[in-house]
Amino acid sequence: MPELPEVEVTRRAIAQVALGHVIDEAIVRVPRLRWDVPADLARVLAGRRVASVARRGKYLLVECTHTQRAPGWLLVHLGMSGSFTVVAADTPLRKHDHADLRLGDRVLRYHDPRRFGSIDWLPVATLAECEAHPLLAGLGVEPLSEQFTAELLWQRTRGRRVAIKQALLAGNIVVGVGNIYCSEALFRAGIHPAMQAQRLSRERAMRLVAAVRETLTEAIAAGGSSLRDFVSGEQEMGYFQVNARVYDRAGQPCRGCGNTIRKLLQGQRATYYCSVCQKR
Ligand SMILES: [Zn+2]
Repeated sequence: MPELPEVEVTRRAIAQVALGHVIDEAIVRVPRLRWDVPADLARVLAGRRVASVARRGKYLLVECTHTQRAPGWLLVHLGMSGSFTVVAADTPLRKHDHADLRLGDRVLRYHDPRRFGSIDWLPVATLAECEAHPLLAGLGVEPLSEQFTAELLWQRTRGRRVAIKQALLAGNIVVGVGNIYCSEALFRAGIHPAMQAQRLSRERAMRLVAAVRETLTEAIAAGGSSLRDFVSGEQEMGYFQVNARVYDRAGQPCRGCGNTIRKLLQGQRATYYCSVCQKR
């Protein structure tokens, strides 16, 4: 599943290729993904200029302006298996290539085998107005923004008996800390994933915020290194290799203390941790 780092690198790649360019043609090949794609989307998009490319959580927001038409934003989610890649305009279609935006000799191509992604059109002018949309309104703060502070995390975990990992994954305190990054950040912060959220001290909240930022920043940097190939259309962006310290390492020795990494299920998601390095 594309996580925040993949979506952020996708955003950067789209910005690099599309910013300031006109969408010569838009093609939508499916009537619905997770839900209906607006029926008139291809007509609405053609002739518009890409004015900015933003991200909120795992949603991509492409501002598409036109001198004679009302402003609007394309809202795209990659779902479970989606990708939005840059290819040469003459690249043959594959199965599950559901939508194209052609900008000169390049195409932004939306591909999604499982169709859990979504494409919507928001007829609003500003990013702030987009954020009022029901899909975005309940989202927590961005993990790499200044809004994600130890104080906020501490406040929002008061009175919460749920496990700290569940609280982070839920997305209503902070967005985009997916399963892999959650396990890794908790390990780096020395916090047991099953610890009750309300037991998080201010000091540990500070460590956890730093660990979340570090983990995501490293993953984005790893993905960024393949950005050039991705933009040139020579390579499809895969999932980033994170140098996992605990994730998917059950039974192997902890890199911190040598103890065996354990696995537990939380809300049907696998969590990996070291019971020596991570305290409740
Ligand atoms: Zn350890």
